[in-house]
Amino acid sequence: MKKILLIQTGGTIAMNAKGAGVELDPESWSKVLYKEIPELSDIAEIATFPLFFEDSSDLNATHWTQLADCIEQNYDTYDGFVILHGTDTMAYSASALSFGLKNLSKPVIFTGSQLPMSTIRSDARRNLVNAIELATMDFKEVGICFNDALYRGNRATKLSIGDFDAFGSPNFSPLADIGIQIETRVSEQFSSGKFENKAKYSDEVFVLTAHPNLNPELLDGLNLEKIRAVILRAFGSGNFCIKGKNSLLLFLDKCRKNNVIVAIVSQADFDSVDLTQYTAGRAALKHGAIGGNDMTLEAALTKLMFLLAHYDSKTDIEALFQKSIVGEL
Ligand code: ASP
Repeated sequence: MKKILLIQTGGTIAMNAKGAGVELDPESWSKVLYKEIPELSDIAEIATFPLFFEDSSDLNATHWTQLADCIEQNYDTYDGFVILHGTDTMAYSASALSFGLKNLSKPVIFTGSQLPMSTIRSDARRNLVNAIELATMDFKEVGICFNDALYRGNRATKLSIGDFDAFGSPNFSPLADIGIQIETRVSEQFSSGKFENKAKYSDEVFVLTAHPNLNPELLDGLNLEKIRAVILRAFGSGNFCIKGKNSLLLFLDKCRKNNVIVAIVSQADFDSVDLTQYTAGRAALKHGAIGGNDMTLEAALTKLMFLLAHYDSKTDIEALFQKSIVGEL
């Protein structure tokens, strides 16, 4: 029987109903787990590891490093890893780990739930059982198991607050469809060699959302000495205002002067940024920006955080950002 390590990090799946809301409940989670789902032990030999208990909105790169360290320390003992995690930032953590866990040859499956495990209509049971089963299978990457699909971690994004079908992968087919059978669609290994924990992330990235009437003067306060990369969430295929007092081109020039990378992703979830298509995109290219292709914001942000922590040269980072490392574009 396969051995799976179930790592708890918090989120709704680790919460209990409290009045009108829900609250983290570190004490009871593993008891609830086995009380609710005794059959888990039919699928795999499961060990549990309570790493931390947080609402995922409170997580940061330190937690990603803790997760990667936990996987590294247990890598040889287990066949697969399931990470229980809040849904709000699950796609960020999954993307970050996809870059940090180099030469991964085992499944690392994130899951969580929209309702606490102890709630009668909870989706926790189903998501957890599916995630554990998927972790016994032949995946060699970081995934997110939710509702009826397994998504590539760095392609997934939270799309719904209220549906059980909370995640989607707009630009890449699910790795597996979960129905009566589990149908594997994609199974890739991105690099071979010895597994390495490279989970180190820089916090010198700033995300800027373009919107109508954005006043570039508000950006004057940004300390570009402390920022090494700006992600501009542009409209459509990579557009933003280039006319009149709202033009962002002067800001792009300031970034270039300060050696700050400007990477453009789209506010639209589906399809790819193409900076050659419209005047604004072409201007962005001329003013030194690069395109994020079809990457999610979560993938683009964590990839830059990862690259900045590992490389010094702006040119190298820009080149690597535009290449696929672990299937993120
Ligand atoms: N706020 C929760 C979290 O991300 C939401 C959830 O788990 O669904 O931790």
